[in-house]
Order: sequence, then C-alpha cells, then structure tokens
Amino acid sequence: MIRKPMYIDGSWQPARSGAQREIINPFDGSIIAQVAEGAREDAIDAIAAARRAFDSGPWPGTPAVERARLLFRLADLVDREKEDLARLESLDTGKTVIESRWDMDDIAGIFRYFAGLADKDGGEVIASPHPDTSSRLVREPVGVCGQISPWNYPLLQASWKMAPALAAGCTIVIKPSEITPLTTIRITELAEEAGFPPGVVNTVLGPGAEVGAELSENHAVDLISFTGGIATGKTIMRAAAGNVKKVALELGGKNPNIVFDDADLDLAVDHALNGVFFHAGQICSAGARVMVQAGIHDRFVKALTARMQRIVLGSGFADGVQMGPLISAEHLAKVAGYVTIAREEGARLVLGGDRPDDPALQNGFFYLPTLFTGCTNDMRIVQEEVFGPVISVERFDSEEEAVARANSTVYGLSAGFWTRDPDRMARVSRALRFGTVWINDFNVYFVQAPWGGYRQSGLGRELGRMGLDEYTEVKHIYQNH
Ligand code: NAD
Repeated sequence: MIRKPMYIDGSWQPARSGAQREIINPFDGSIIAQVAEGAREDAIDAIAAARRAFDSGPWPGTPAVERARLLFRLADLVDREKEDLARLESLDTGKTVIESRWDMDDIAGIFRYFAGLADKDGGEVIASPHPDTSSRLVREPVGVCGQISPWNYPLLQASWKMAPALAAGCTIVIKPSEITPLTTIRITELAEEAGFPPGVVNTVLGPGAEVGAELSENHAVDLISFTGGIATGKTIMRAAAGNVKKVALELGGKNPNIVFDDADLDLAVDHALNGVFFHAGQICSAGARVMVQAGIHDRFVKALTARMQRIVLGSGFADGVQMGPLISAEHLAKVAGYVTIAREEGARLVLGGDRPDDPALQNGFFYLPTLFTGCTNDMRIVQEEVFGPVISVERFDSEEEAVARANSTVYGLSAGFWTRDPDRMARVSRALRFGTVWINDFNVYFVQAPWGGYRQSGLGRELGRMGLDEYTEVKHIYQNH
C-alpha cells in the first residue's frame, strides 16, 4: 500500500488534522493508497510558505537561467521515471498504460519547452512621445499561484500549470484532484530532487470545497489557475473576486466533429474513434458530438458501429486492451444517467448503453462504447458534456446548418471537420467559434500551440508562449533623463 503525505515549505507533512483518504483503483474498486487529507488550515500553511518564498526567499533573485536549469533537470527526472510514472497514472485513473506513456512523453517536453522560454524575454523598448525620455516594458512573475487540477489527466494537467508558472518565476501551491493525487505527489518528489528551494513548489491534498476553496479565496494568492467543470469554475471566479486575483480557467467541452460528404470516410471514422475513446471518453476535447452530412450518414454510421464493436475493454495494463474503466462509481452513474436521458428524449440507441457483462469487469467502473443516432440539437446528450464513451450522431444537410448548430452551445473548447474542399476549409475554420479547430484531424494538441476555450469553456490560454504570459504582469518603466 502506498502512503503519502503533503509537501509544504520543503517538508513532507501529514494533514494537521491527521486525516487520511483512501485512493481507489477504478479497475476493481480496490484500495491502492492512503494519502493525507488536507483542509483549509493546510492550504493556509502552504500559501504562507509560497508567499515567503516569493517575497523574501531565494526565488525572486534567482536568475531566469537558473530557473530554466531546474526545469530542464525536472524534465530529465520525468524521463528517468517515465515508466513508473505511467504505471502509477494508470493505476490511479484506470486509463491504458499506453496512453499514460504518451502523457509522460508530453510532460517531459512541456517542462523543456517552458525551461527554454524562461530566459528568452529581455523586455521591449517602446517609443515615448516625450523628448529625452525612455519607456520600456518588462514582464515580471505574477506572484503566488494556486493551481487546481482535475482527475482525468492528473499529471499532464498539473504540468501544464507547474511548468509555465515556475519558468515565469512564480511560486505555486498545487492541489490535485482528491481522487487522483498519486502522480502529482511523485512529481513533487522529483521537483525536490531537482533542487527547487523550499516554498517554491507546495503540494496540498484534500477536497475541492476545502483546499481548493481556500486557494481561490485567500488574499495572499495572486492567481488561481483551474482545470475542471464549468460549475466549479464559476464558483472559483466568484471566490477570486475577493482580492481580484487573476483567474485562468480551462473548463469543459462539447466538441463537434463534423463530417462533410466529400470527406475521406475511412480516415474520418478512424478519427471519430480516436476523438472519443481516449481514456474512455473522459477528455475535455472529446469529439462526442458527431455531425454527419446526409449523403454519407448511413455509410458512416455503419462503419463507425463496426469499429466500435471491436473496442476491447479491460485492465489498462493488459495487452490489447483499448479502453479502461470510468474513474469512479459516481461518475459511472452520471454517464449511465445521460444514456437514460438520451433514450427518453428519443435518440436511437445503436450500440452499448449498458455495463459490459464480462464477469471479470464487474468490480470495476466499466461502461460499454455507446452510440446514439437520430440526435437533434436540443437534446441534452448533444448539448451537455457526458464525459464518457458515448457518441451522439446528428444528420445535417448544408454547411451553414452544420456550422450554426455546432456553434449553438455554451461550450467553445474545440471542434473538427472533414472535407477535401480547400474553400470549405477556409470558410468553416473561420466560422467555427472554438479555441482549437482541427481540419481533417481530431484531438491533436502540442505544447507549442495555446489551448483554451471560447464561451464558457474557459478564460485565458495554457501552453504556447501565451501560456507563459498568463503567469506574468507587464510593467511599463518610464524614465525622464
Ligand atoms: P471538478 O470541477 O469536479 O474538479 C476539478 C478540481 O477542482 C478538483 O481538484 C476538485 O477538488 C476541485 N474543486 C472542486 N470543488 C471546488 C471548489 N469549490 N473550489 C475550488 N476547487 C474545487 O472537475 P473534475 O470532475 O475533476 O474534472 C472533469 C472536468 O474537467 C470536465 O468538465 C472536463 O471537461 C474538465 N477538463 C477540462 C480541460 C481543459 O483543458 N479545458 C482539461 C481536463 C478536464
């Protein structure tokens, strides 16, 4: 059994209350770890440590090249531990170890990308309108950052936040999801080994309503970065208003995948699968809303059904398994609830719609790949984020109709479409109002490109140059000679 404390001000500590939480393996419901269960008081300790490290510790005076060196070192340690980290992530989340290995490859690259940017910004001289004066702009770290991450991509999402914040010169208090803390604890150990000074990286474990709420409300925190659901994002925005802290939000998505009748059908079917079934559909950019033009609708559904029937469920550690369980019993009930709603609303169930009957999977939180056709824009299965292995298919006739429907959602994270027509590529990519638009692909992201949402899918951008800028303030220095 793994037993883990929290990391505050350079030391490993239990929760002040002594409380512990059991961590569950989604594959079979067994207990895999016991970790400290922090509360507001522990978050307050961590915030104070981060504040000291930012205001008076060695961190503010640490040159950018040294911050970069520490981040490069952390990336090397992630590489060294890659296989163990991947296995730990799969144990904690249920996703296949193949997918977890991809995450770990990305994570090392994310730390290297931001390490590389850390010492590149020399500021900017701007034209002053007054004679014999000079004006320049410098970027400075925002300060103490609270960072709250979700359970679906625990370490990947944590690294999206940790790497740019540390590169910019901020200090951080990170709070992983209470149900998937293990890899965030492990990377904190690696950050300690890399040599980050005490108080620069703090990791507090515990429930969102306690630890997360304190990070959002506390006036000593300068920025709160959150990835999770819309409802929680709104709560955090309200809490952050107390000291007008900066807010960065990566919220959910309901991401249309539009297949026009001139598309390469095989490729579109392939990617429709990739679009949804990573981590059993528990991905914010899942292309779970598939829209198919009338001329190819029936052929597309037939091919997709055949492919979905072949998806192999099981332990993420077993050879040949393509899809693991959902994260928890509670989340399984939510996904099953959406399937019931879809049937009541008149969607046609083509495949799945139930738990698998394999006796070996009964203790895990498994759900079958599920396909609905005959879906319409007003259905909840089309408008709301299911976060599971469920695809809704809608039929459409014209390009205008497809674009208008795709945009008619509160979400605006990502969208994709399939066509061979270059004019349509230009038109539709501009007309879709989403933070990322893929043409003839789906679910592709990389650290060089910013990631974030239009509408209620979020505020600000992570990754790319813009991801670093989120963690900086801009100062104008004006000098009269
Ligand atoms: P969630 O909103 O329930 O929880 C996310 C985090 O917020 C957890 O660490 C939780 O403890 C914390 N939290 C809960 N209540 C809080 C509160 N009152 N104050 C502060 N923190 C609180 O989300 P989840 O179920 O863990 O994750 C799934 C959601 O995350 C989905 O909606 C998904 O789309 C979204 N997501 C978005 C992206 C993106 O890049 N846009 C990436 C991954 C996941």
